[in-house]
Amino acid sequence: MARVYNFSAGPAVLPEEVLKEAAEEMLDYRGTGMSVMEMSHRSKAFDTIIKEAEQDLRELMNIPDNYKVLFLQGGASQQFAAIPMNLMKNKVADYIITGQWSKKAFQEAKKYGNVKAIASSEDKTYSYIPDCSDLDIDDDADYVYICENNTIYGTKFKELPNTKGKTLVADVSSCFLSEPVDVTKYGVIYGGVQKNVGPAGVVIVIIREDLITDTPLEGTPTMLTYKTQADADSLYNTPPCYGIYICGKVFKWIKKMGGLEAMKAHNEKKAKILYDFLDQSELFKGTVVEKDRSLMNVPFVTGDADLDAKFVAEAKAAGFENLKGHRTVGGMRASIYNAMPIEGVEKLVEFMKDFEAKNK
Ligand SMILES: *Cc1c(COP(=O)(O)O)cnc(C)c1O
Repeated sequence: MARVYNFSAGPAVLPEEVLKEAAEEMLDYRGTGMSVMEMSHRSKAFDTIIKEAEQDLRELMNIPDNYKVLFLQGGASQQFAAIPMNLMKNKVADYIITGQWSKKAFQEAKKYGNVKAIASSEDKTYSYIPDCSDLDIDDDADYVYICENNTIYGTKFKELPNTKGKTLVADVSSCFLSEPVDVTKYGVIYGGVQKNVGPAGVVIVIIREDLITDTPLEGTPTMLTYKTQADADSLYNTPPCYGIYICGKVFKWIKKMGGLEAMKAHNEKKAKILYDFLDQSELFKGTVVEKDRSLMNVPFVTGDADLDAKFVAEAKAAGFENLKGHRTVGGMRASIYNAMPIEGVEKLVEFMKDFEAKNK
C-alpha cells in the first residue's frame, strides 16, 4: 500500500487514522453485524452516530444553544438557492464577490430577489479581499453574503466584513474547522464537508434559530426549507448516513489533536513553510496579496505554462498528487487542509527546491 501526498482541493485528504478506523468497522460496526452503510437511519446505532457528531461539532466550534446544526445533502451549491429562499423576507441581499463560488451564489440568489454585489475583487483575478469596513449595505438587506475562504484563488477573509448590523452568511467549505471561529458573528455558517471535514455528500448548515422560518419564499421545496430539516433533526428523509459517520470520526480526531486552536497552529506552521519558500524562490511565485493568503489553499505559478505543466507532471511522478491549479486559473495549487501532515508540505518544498535548481 502506498499513500500519496494528496494536495487535492476537494474531495481531499482525510486523516489516515479515520480511514483505518472506518476500515476496521466496515463489515461489523460495533457488534451490529453490519456496516454503517447498511443500517437504518432510524436505528439506535445511527441515532448515536449523528447525535455524537453534532455534540462533538458543537464542542469544537463552541456553537451556542440558539443555533441549529443541520446535516444535509446537495453540496454547498444547493445552499446557494436555499439561503435566499429561506432568508429573504424583504427579497434584498448584498453579496461580496471574492471568487467563483461567491459569484455563483450571487447569480443563483438573483433568481429570488433584488441582489447586489457590494464589493468585488474580480478586477485582479480575485487575488485579494476587498476592503469591507464601510460598504454600501442596503437598509433592507436580509443578509450579507461572503465566501470566507476562496478555494480556487487562495484568499481568506482575515477580518469579517462590517455588515452594519445585518445578518452575515458565510460559505466556509474550504476553511471549515481549520481554526477557531466566533459563531455568534454569523447568522448562517455552512460548508460542503469534502474539503476539510469528510467525504462528499454532506453539507453542514449552522443557523441561528430566529432565521429558521415557517414561511420561506413561495415555492420553496419542502426539502430546502430549513424548518423541515431543523424540526426533524436532519432526519426528515434518509440523510447521507455514511458521510455523517465519517465526519463524526473527523470531529473526534480534531478533538484528540487539541481542538481548533491546535488545528490553527498546525495549519499556520504548514502554510508558513510553503509561503516562506515561495517568497524567496526565483522560479515559483505565490499569486495572492500577502495579507489575504489562505492557510488552506496555496496557488502559485512559474510564469510559464509549459514549465507549470512539467512541474505538475514531475511532482505527480514523485508522489505529490493533484497540484494542478483550478481549470479556470491554471498554474499550481497546493491544498493543505487539516489532514495534510507537516511532512507532506516539507517534502513538497524539498521537491520544489530541487525542481527550481534544475529548471532555472
Ligand atoms: C467546493 C466549494 C463549493 C462547491 O461545493 P459543492 O459541494 O460541490 O457544491 C462551494 N463553495 C466553496 C468555498 C467551495 O470550496
